[in-house]
Formats: sequence, structure tokens, C-alpha cells
Amino acid sequence: MEGASTGIASVELHGRAFVGFISANELEQAIGRVAKELQVKYADKRPLFLGVLNGAYFFAAKLLERLDLECELTFVKVASYHGTSSSGSVTQLIGLNEKIEGRHVVVLEDIVDTGGTIAHVMDSLSDRHVASVSVATLLFKPEAYKQQFPIEHVAVRVPDRFVVGSGLDYDGLGRNLPGIFILNEPTHEPV
Ligand code: 5GP
Ligand code: MG
Repeated sequence: MEGASTGIASVELHGRAFVGFISANELEQAIGRVAKELQVKYADKRPLFLGVLNGAYFFAAKLLERLDLECELTFVKVASYHGTSSSGSVTQLIGLNEKIEGRHVVVLEDIVDTGGTIAHVMDSLSDRHVASVSVATLLFKPEAYKQQFPIEHVAVRVPDRFVVGSGLDYDGLGRNLPGIFILNEPTHEPV
């Protein structure tokens, strides 16, 4: 790791080079803007924040410390099972034990890429009679997004490149890096 004015300039994870892209300070400011949006929208609604593990732990912590409103937070995991039937894979939300009927739910993601994950979460919530549901994400790749559902609350839009840091990992490593680092290779595929 090498020092730079905003923190770390570059880092190697599993032998691949990532370079500093968004400083921790910029990210905090962007999260503050999302907090302000939510503060207005959910005043008196006692929202239930639903963080998608593992990556959303960082965004959830930073966002909620900026929110001055009555709210709750819980975390879920998205798990896919490949059944033996022809129906293909089945996706389940693990860990959702709260009674969410009638609640204003805000799904918290680390990054929305193609939107496949968020679509699964929406599917799982569709028969739960929530009062409303919206998505807040730390990072959004608009060029990669393929779903219709609007991603209403975005801290930072990023290009269609692989990034790590602030909760996001590359094969387990890099979640603890402050700010966001981008893979220094021309690829459009998650690595
Ligand atoms: P989606 O289902 O929207 O295509 O992708 C969402 C999931 O893919 C994210 O929750 C994350 O786990 C992973 N992902 C997509 N793009 C990136 C990226 O640039 N970096 C990292 N670390 N994970 C990513
Ligand atoms: Mg994720």
C-alpha cells in the first residue's frame, strides 16, 4: 500500500492491482446526501432498513449514524439453491424474521450492478404486503443496470468496472479498505 493525499493510492489483492478511485471523505459526503434524502422521505414513517449482507454492513453503519429519525435495521442474505427440478435456481432471503407487513422498507445494497440481486430481493418482498419499498445503494453502475425498478437513492454512480473497498470485496479481500478502489485492468466483467 502506498500513501497519497486522500489515503491509499493503490493496493494489490490476490495479485491484481486496484487504484484509488473515491476517497473515504468523498464517500462520507455522498452518504450524507443520501441520509438527507431519506430523512425527509421517511420522517414519521419509522422505516425498516434491510441491509443485504455481506457488503452492505459498511453503508448501513455510515448511513444510520447520519439519520436522525426513528428507524430499525436488520440484515438479510440472498441465497440461491439449484434444485433438481427443471425450475432452475430458487432464491431465498435468509434471516428475515421481522414482521414486515405494513412497514416502509428500504433495501440497503453495497452496489447495484445488473440489478439481478435487487430483483431477487424485490421478488421475495412482493407477497409480504409491505407499505412501500425502495432501494438505497452505496454504489450504482447505471451502464450495467438491466431492471425496470428505479434505484432511487444512490450515493455514488460508478462506471461499469470492478471496484472494492468500504464493504466490497474481491474474493474475500478488500472490504476494509477506506474509500473505493478500481481494478486497474480493462474488464467489464465482475472478477
Ligand atoms: P447485480 O446482481 O446487481 O448484478 O450485482 C450485485 C452484486 O454483485 C453485488 O451485491 C456484489 O456482490 C457483486 N458486484 C457487482 N459489481 C461488483 C463490483 O464492482 N465489485 C464488487 N466487489 N462486487 C460487485
Ligand atoms: Mg452484494
